[in-house]
Amino acid sequence: MIHLYLSVFKFFPAGMEAEDNRKKTDAPPDVDPQTPVLRISQLDALELDTSLEQLLWTQFSQCFQNCRPGLLTPLEPELKALLQLLLWRFTLYSNSATVGQSLLSLRYHNVLSTSPRYRPLTRRQKLGLALLTAGPRWLQERSHSLLLCLGSNSGASDGDRGVLQKSLRNCLIFVSGITQLAGLLNFLVFLGKGRHPVLAERIVGARAVFSKPNVTRDITYQYMNRELLWHGFAEFLIFLLPLINTRKLKTILSSIVFGGESAAGNGAAEGSGVWKECGLCGEWPTMPHTVGCQHVFCYYCIKSHSIADVSLTCPKCGAEAGPPEPVKMEVEMMGR
Ligand SMILES: [Zn+2]
Ligand SMILES: [Zn+2]
Repeated sequence: MIHLYLSVFKFFPAGMEAEDNRKKTDAPPDVDPQTPVLRISQLDALELDTSLEQLLWTQFSQCFQNCRPGLLTPLEPELKALLQLLLWRFTLYSNSATVGQSLLSLRYHNVLSTSPRYRPLTRRQKLGLALLTAGPRWLQERSHSLLLCLGSNSGASDGDRGVLQKSLRNCLIFVSGITQLAGLLNFLVFLGKGRHPVLAERIVGARAVFSKPNVTRDITYQYMNRELLWHGFAEFLIFLLPLINTRKLKTILSSIVFGGESAAGNGAAEGSGVWKECGLCGEWPTMPHTVGCQHVFCYYCIKSHSIADVSLTCPKCGAEAGPPEPVKMEVEMMGR
């Protein structure tokens, strides 16, 4: 995702530069449209376009973050289609290439023209491409509510309505199945021939060609390295952190910094106070146990710590901890 952001930022200045160049030379470098384009580049371009659409949608929906939840839901398919059309207007419509294609130095060539030179898409082809990509998606997301709406609007009786709805739904399912199958077949043909990865492109006669001569597939893997490094580091931390006995380190550090005398002094100063709180959790000790020194711990606290750390020392005074033993309480009745 971050990579895409960067790439889009890179793309805009690059696009402007290209435009400047075109103005200066007044003749774009002509590339033979018959030069085959790598399949992976075409697929990458599609992938980049999808990511950009998702990014736009995320940003758009974040604008309404503080509004009533579910505000956008009833209009979501329309808004998505609208955003897609907006994107289309300023990318494909104006320079015959999607953002993803521009990033990979590709553009659409009009296959229907017989000229051997590069021909941009006609306005009709561009419109067809937009409708064929945004239309079916919208229809698919909207089909359910459309059917319901159609059913309730028609003046027919309930029985007729049910039959009509059912047949329409079946028809829709059939059509969408057919388009999916056609898409699959088209993709298989694309894998074989290396042209038109999307059915819409084949229908309108648009083919991706290089926009600049001598383009090499130039993908930097820096972002990947960075991600791998972070991932590895995080995994290492996840592995390492549980192995570090922070409590013990803290005791050792405090004994180094404050010396042995403070612990002893503490003990003396606390006096009977040490019996009122667990040396580990600081709460009133539940089922008080000792480990050989004058401090008291909850049974659960000291047991779990002694299981986790075999060479446990008392966290308060640093004395070697023996097996936890219950405190023998002598309840003193404070009678009056
Ligand atoms: Zn405790
Ligand atoms: Zn102690």
